[in-house]
Amino acid sequence: MSKKNKNKTYSFFSFLENNFDKAAQFLSIEKGILEQIKACNSVYSIHFPVKIGKKIKVIEAYRVQHSHHKLPCKGGIRYSIKVTQDEIMTLAALMTYKCAIVDVPFGGAKGGIKMDPQTISVENIEKITRRYTSELIKKNFIGPGIDVPAPDYGTGEREMSWIFDTFLSIRPGEVDALACVTGKPVSQGGVRGRKEATGLGVFYGIRELCRIKEDMLSIGLDVGLIGKKVIIQGLGNVGYHAATFFHEAGAIIIALAEREGAIYNKKGLNVSNVILHLKNTGSILNFPGAKNIENTEKALELECDILIPAALENVIHKNNVNRIKAKIIGEAANGPITPEADEILEKMGVIVVPDIYLNAGGVTVSYFEWLKNLSHVRYGRMEKRFSENMNAELLQVIETICKKKILTEEKKIILRGAREIDLVRSGLEDTMISGFHKIRELKKSIGIKNMRTAAFVFAINKIIDSYERLGIFP
Ligand code: NAD
Repeated sequence: MSKKNKNKTYSFFSFLENNFDKAAQFLSIEKGILEQIKACNSVYSIHFPVKIGKKIKVIEAYRVQHSHHKLPCKGGIRYSIKVTQDEIMTLAALMTYKCAIVDVPFGGAKGGIKMDPQTISVENIEKITRRYTSELIKKNFIGPGIDVPAPDYGTGEREMSWIFDTFLSIRPGEVDALACVTGKPVSQGGVRGRKEATGLGVFYGIRELCRIKEDMLSIGLDVGLIGKKVIIQGLGNVGYHAATFFHEAGAIIIALAEREGAIYNKKGLNVSNVILHLKNTGSILNFPGAKNIENTEKALELECDILIPAALENVIHKNNVNRIKAKIIGEAANGPITPEADEILEKMGVIVVPDIYLNAGGVTVSYFEWLKNLSHVRYGRMEKRFSENMNAELLQVIETICKKKILTEEKKIILRGAREIDLVRSGLEDTMISGFHKIRELKKSIGIKNMRTAAFVFAINKIIDSYERLGIFP
C-alpha cells in the first residue's frame, strides 16, 4: 500500500459523497448545483450540562438540517456512544434523498446525542432528552413547520413523548404542537402503524424484488418469499418487525444477530419465541434448538438468500465482503455497506437494495402522522361508518337481484370500512411498491446494474426540480 493511501482517512459523509458523485455522472448538471444539493445547510453542535447523581456531565449532541429545499426538515434522533458530527451529517443527507424517492415533501435532517442509553437510568435519559429539546427550541431547530424529529437507533415512542411534552410546555397553546415530532405513542397523537413502519417497508421492498422473475433468475432464485433463507442483524425496532413480517410471509429466518452474539437454526427460528426468550433471559443466546455464534459478525457470512443488516453502519466492509454469501442484501440500517464493499458486491452479482429506498417506510408513515396531527383527526374517522353503510346497502341490492343470501362471515369482510391502520399500511405498501419500480425502471433505462446509483439519480433529479420551481436554480 502506498504511503498516500495508507494515510487516507474516510468519513461516513465522504462515503455518501462517493455514492452521490457516482450518480451525478449520469446527469448533465452544473457542478455548483450539485455542490449545493450535497452540502448540509445547517449544522447545530451543542454541549450542555446535565447533573447526573452528584456530578455535572457535559453532553455532546447535534441536529443537522441537510436540505431546506422542502420544509419542514425531517429525520430521527439517535442515542449512541458512537455519535459524531460526521455521522449525523451523513444520516441527515440520506434523509433528503430518501424523502425525494418516496415522495415525502420534507428536507432531510438528523439528530444525535452521544451517550449509551443502556448504561444510563431512565430518569437521566429523560433529563437529557428534555434539555436537548429545549436547546433545539432555543435555536429554532424544532417545530411543525421547521424541523420534525422522529425515533432512530436507541430512541423510541418514550423519547418522542418527552420531546413533545417539552415543546408544548415551552410553547403552550401552539395548536399544531403535536406535529413537532413523530413516532409518538398513539395515545399522544401518534399514528397506528408507525412503530413497525420501517420494518414493514423493508419487507414490502424485498417482497417486490422477489416477485420479479427476471431479477430472481439473474441470481438463481425462485420467485416469491416462501422458503427463502433470511438472516437479520439487529433485533431492535426495524430488525424485529422486519423479521416478524418475513417469518409470517413464509420465509425461513435461519439466523438472528445481536450485540452479544448470534443464533442459527437452518430449519428456521420462530421470531416471537426468540423475543420471548430475549425478554426472559436478557439475551438471544442459548435459544432452544439453535446454535450459538459467539462472534456476532460471523452471522453475516452464513449461506442465505437474503441478508438484512438492521443495526449499524459499515458492517459489510472490504475485510468481510468476500465471505458474504447472500444473493440479496436489503439495507434496513443506514449505510451498512462501505463503498469499497459495495463495488465488490456488484461484481459478485449480489443485488443490494439501498437504504435510501428500503428503510424509507419510517419517514413515509411519519409523514402520515404529521398530516394527522395537522388535521387534528384520526384517519378513517369521517369515512369508516359511511363506507360500511354504503357497502351494506350495496349488498342488500345484490342479494335482492340474485335472490341469494350472503354468509354472515363473508358479509363481515365485505362490509368492513377502512380503519386507521388499514389506511396507513395501504399508503405504505403503495409507496414502497411504486418507489421500487421507479428506481428499477430508471436503472434499466440508464443501463446500470446498481440500484443505489439509480436511486441517487432519481433523488437528485427530484431535488433539482424542486429548486427550479423555487426559482433558485434558473
Ligand atoms: P434500535 O436501537 O431499536 O435497534 C438496534 C438493534 O441493533 C438493537 O437491538 C441493538 O442491540 C442491535 N445491535 C447493536 N449493535 C449490534 C451489533 N454489533 N450486532 C448486532 N446487533 C447490534 O434501532 P432501530 O431504530 O431499529 O434502527 C436500526 C437501524 O435502522 C439504524 O441504522 C437506523 O438508522 C435505521 N433506521 C431506523 C428507522 C426507524 O424508524 N427506527 C428508520 C430508518 C432507518
